[in-house]
Amino acid sequence: MTQAERRKIIIVGGGPAGLAAALHLTRRMPWLVDELLIIEAAAYPRQKVCGGGVTFHGEEQLRDLNIEINVPAFPVHKMIFRLGSHAFSATCADAMRIIQREEFDAALAKAVADRGLHCRTGERLIDLVVHEDGVTLVTSRGTYSADIVIGADGANSVVRRKLNLPTTAGIARLLRAMTPVDQAQSTAWQEHTAIFDFSCILQGVQGYVWDFPCYVGGQSFMNRGIFDSRIEPQPRTSKQHGALKQAFTAGLHERNVDIDSFQLEGHPVRWFNPRAEFARPRVLLTGDAAGVDPLFAEGISYAMEYGAVIADVVDEAFAHRDFSFRSYRERLLQHRMGRSLKRRTAVARHLYRHQWPQFWSTLWQLAAISPAVVKHAVGSSLDVLPAFR
Ligand SMILES: Cc1cc2nc3c(=O)[nH]c(=O)nc-3n(C[C@H](O)[C@H](O)[C@H](O)COP(=O)(O)OP(=O)(O)OC[C@H]3O[C@@H](n4cnc5c(N)ncnc54)[C@H](O)[C@@H]3O)c2cc1C
Repeated sequence: MTQAERRKIIIVGGGPAGLAAALHLTRRMPWLVDELLIIEAAAYPRQKVCGGGVTFHGEEQLRDLNIEINVPAFPVHKMIFRLGSHAFSATCADAMRIIQREEFDAALAKAVADRGLHCRTGERLIDLVVHEDGVTLVTSRGTYSADIVIGADGANSVVRRKLNLPTTAGIARLLRAMTPVDQAQSTAWQEHTAIFDFSCILQGVQGYVWDFPCYVGGQSFMNRGIFDSRIEPQPRTSKQHGALKQAFTAGLHERNVDIDSFQLEGHPVRWFNPRAEFARPRVLLTGDAAGVDPLFAEGISYAMEYGAVIADVVDEAFAHRDFSFRSYRERLLQHRMGRSLKRRTAVARHLYRHQWPQFWSTLWQLAAISPAVVKHAVGSSLDVLPAFR
């Protein structure tokens, strides 16, 4: 057997979480540049099923890392929250931009490479064994040993599985369809609006249907999807968990879109559970492998922000030669990111357990008569809009 290649840190997964973690770590510890390796199973530009909404919070993360991502994007200045015939809206210039993840992640990976960081693509982690003095990793191409491994390999994380951490609990389900639109016929396009339609809640879905205008290869499209957080295992209703495809079919039908004419793609999101385990000795989890937002399924920004906490705890680990990472969970919860995710998790738990039509329509009626209160609640408390932070 050939000798294992040695690195101080190996990051498994080159999505926003893994790439941002590499940037945070090497900003804090520049000596790590040649001691850190990212292993990515796919090759850029790699496909990623996503709504593509980069919120203003995501832009903040990029600015913090001094990264500019110039890819085709549709700017969103208004968000409409719908429930049947009720609706309320929040307006904010550049509240969000809708990108294609293939392009966004490839640009982020290029920015990482431009800073001299090493990423091996087309290489998949197969196995991982933690020893007292390091971690052995077996990939599709060879064997490595590392002081620290960062699991940034998404909602179906192999790192997570190899650590015997729970893999099925805390998983949200999402479906997406990309449908071409005629700009002239679409108010959402003309008014730069993203729509979050919660009507499917009444069918047992704990989430919403989204319509995000976007560009695909220069053509106008609508990124449409459905998100079911499944955060409440026993919703307060006689209904079981909603049949997702059925609810999405009904939502698309209302929009005059025939589901059978478009490719339906699905991918899970792991949601943030403040009580979960996020680390084991020598191994840290980040992004979807650790948990993101269960209220809206916002993950790009949070995935990047995890990197800030990782840089703190890794710096301390090298300084004290203590790789237990016992404090990681607490540090996440104390950080702005962890506090924000904790709030969204609490709100999601409280809201999505209710499926009584009266409860939801009362909420929407209240929202319609007090837009300022709603803007404050959605914008400030839940970090969706910048105005009140
Ligand atoms: C349908 C859908 C819509 C969404 N819409 C939005 C949205 O509009 N806005 C938003 O902010 N968030 C959205 N999200 C959430 C967002 O996509 C994720 O939270 C985000 O991608 C998390 O980034 P990550 O780097 O943790 O994981 P990923 O982006 O999944 O990256 C993980 C990487 O690890 C690699 N990998 C996996 N296994 C291995 C292995 N064994 N070895 C090596 N590499 C491996 C993968 O190839 C991948 O590149 C959506 C999610 C879904 C499913």
